[in-house]
This record gives sequence, structure tokens and C-alpha cells, in this order.
Amino acid sequence: MSTELARSVVVVAELRQGQLAPVTWELLACGRQIAQAAGLSLRAMVLGEAVREEAARLAAVGAAVCALQGPDLAQYSGQAWREVLAAALPSLQPAMVLAAHTTQGLDFAPGLALRLGAACLSGVERVTQEAGRLLFSRPAWHGKAQAQYASTAPLTVLTVQPGAFAAQAAAAERAAGSLEVRTAAPAAGPVRSLGLRRAAEQSAELAQAQVVVAAGRGVGKPENLALIRSLAACFSSAAVAGSRPVCDAGWLDYSRQVGITGATVAPRLYLACGISGARQHTAGMQGAGFIVAISLDPQAAIFNLADVCLVEDLTLFIPAFLAECGPAAA
Ligand code: FAD
Repeated sequence: MSTELARSVVVVAELRQGQLAPVTWELLACGRQIAQAAGLSLRAMVLGEAVREEAARLAAVGAAVCALQGPDLAQYSGQAWREVLAAALPSLQPAMVLAAHTTQGLDFAPGLALRLGAACLSGVERVTQEAGRLLFSRPAWHGKAQAQYASTAPLTVLTVQPGAFAAQAAAAERAAGSLEVRTAAPAAGPVRSLGLRRAAEQSAELAQAQVVVAAGRGVGKPENLALIRSLAACFSSAAVAGSRPVCDAGWLDYSRQVGITGATVAPRLYLACGISGARQHTAGMQGAGFIVAISLDPQAAIFNLADVCLVEDLTLFIPAFLAECGPAAA
């Protein structure tokens, strides 16, 4: 890791509806870990129309924060973010730039790396140190293995997996940082933002259910959702949810999607049926009290999280379970 020339780790804050998204505090925790290990300073950048207040919240926990604001940054645009960051970052002499591994971060980070002539590593879940080098881990083969990378580039752009770093580590720091406010105006490019439309609200039933029965791609076809619904009907306070492929396929409404781009749920019982356990999904359900997972694949990553692991074909197991324990069996 070449750290002699570059001097800082820069966290690019993510905002939702004008406020710091929870993942920003996780980025700060990751950034602090890297900064301490590599002897770099910790900085943060906050982009938006009027973000002084949110930037001050980051400065209050010890980061040197630069707020880049202007009317053209009122709404997220990958083009604007890339351009503004590419212009502003060199003055901070970064060795590492950290963005969230979210729809937004994945949108601007690779292009930003290209603009800066930097290396780009996406989906980082862990940072360790070995023989003086920083090693970055991310899941491989559907979460069944961890791949480790070291960067030899003077500047590396990382996207950091939501849920992988404990946000408390950042919030625990109390030394005051600093805040600089700059005006930023991206040049007009070929992309125009037409505005944002709010997605359907998360189903209240899903948020409040004590039992969530979730269908993954392993259900195979929409007709098999009847099995998932029958399983949910065994419990008095239950809701049906799905992984993203199931919602992308239109088998369930997006308001039922669990994960980083869907709902976060914390029921007493989570039944994952035909779900492999990708981090993007588990980030939305890992707070469940008790997890039962059914998958054909004994190596499925969901089994690392589950309390009960059933290596079964759900199309055989669920009917057998219902016949034995379902309402009709009583
Ligand atoms: P798969 O990974 O295909 O797993 C299917 C599982 O079912 C496998 O384990 C298989 O062995 C098993 N199976 C197959 N047949 C059967 C059977 N008959 N009986 C039992 N088991 C069977 N995903 C989300 O869920 N939520 C999100 O919010 C989300 N956000 C994302 C955001 C971004 C930016 C990106 C890049 C991805 C996101 N994803 C999200 C997608 C995520 O990476 C995974 O692709 C997705 O979670 C996989 O869904 P799955 O587990 O249903 O499917």
C-alpha cells in the first residue's frame, strides 16, 4: 500500500431526504479504521443543496468535513457527483475514497475512480492488516468464500457494504473535527434529472409482523408463492416478504422486498425460503430474533446466519411441514 504521497481517507457521505443515511456512520467507522491503520487523516465530503447542518453532525464526531453545496446538487445525479468529487478530491490528497455500496455509491464510484486514475474495489466488508499491508475482504461465490485484495495504487476508491461496519465505532468518537463549506456547481452534462418519485411505502404489515416468511429465487415460479403464503398463515402475526429477484420478477410488490434497497425488518422469527443470503438481503433481516433458512445448497451463506438450517427442497419440505403442523393438521 503506497501511503507516502497520499495523506487522507475521504468518506463520501450518503444522504436520504436531506439527512445523513445510517450507512454514512458505517463508512466513517471503516474510514477511521483505515486511517488509524495506515497513519492517514480522516476526512468526509457531503454533497447537496444545503448540507451545512448535516456536515456539522459529521464534524462533531471528529472528522474534517468539507460540505460541497449548490442548487445543482439538490438531487442526486451520478454525473454531477462524479464531476464535483473529481474536482474537489485532489485538494484533500486522498489515498482512499470511501463510498457506500448502495445504488448511489455503485452509480458514481467506478466512474469517479476512472476520472481520478484510481483503482476501484467494490463491496468491501472487512479491513485487516497483514505485514504492514491493508487487506480488503469481500464476498466471493455468493458469499461462500471471502476474497482478499491489497491495493498497490496510490489512490483507491472503495465501496463499502452496508451493515458490514459497526456505526457505533464512529459515533463513539467525541473529539470535534472541522467544517469547511464550499460552493460547487457541476457543468451541465448530457444527463438531466427529471425529479424523484417516492416508491410505495413499506407495508405496515411487514414492519409490524412478528413472523416474516420470505421467498427467494429458490421458490422457482410465482405459483409456489402459495406455499409461502400458506406457511405464513400458520402464524397469527405474519407477513410475506421477498428477496430482490422475486420482486424484480414481479412475483411480489417492491414494498415486500427486504434488504438494503428494500425494507429492514426485525421480527421474532424470519423464515428464509430459497434465499442464498447475499449481504444485500441479510442487511435487511439480520436483526431478526430467530432465523430458519431452507435452501437446497448446503453452502448457502444464509446458513452462516440461521439458527436452524434446513437443506431441503422447499417445494417438498413446506407441503410436508404443513401437512404435519399446519392449520389443517390440527
Ligand atoms: P439466489 O441468490 O439465486 O438464491 C436462491 C437460493 O435458493 C439458493 O441458495 C438456491 O440453492 C436455493 N434454491 C433453489 N431452488 C430451491 C428449492 N427448490 N428449495 C430450496 N432452495 C432452493 N437483494 C435483496 O434481497 N434485497 C435487496 O434489497 C437487494 N439490494 C441490492 C442492491 C444492490 C446495489 C445490488 C447490487 C444487489 C441487491 N440485491 C438485493 C441482490 C442481491 O445481491 C442478491 O442477488 C439477491 O439477494 C439474491 O436473491 P436470492 O437469495 O433470492 O436468489
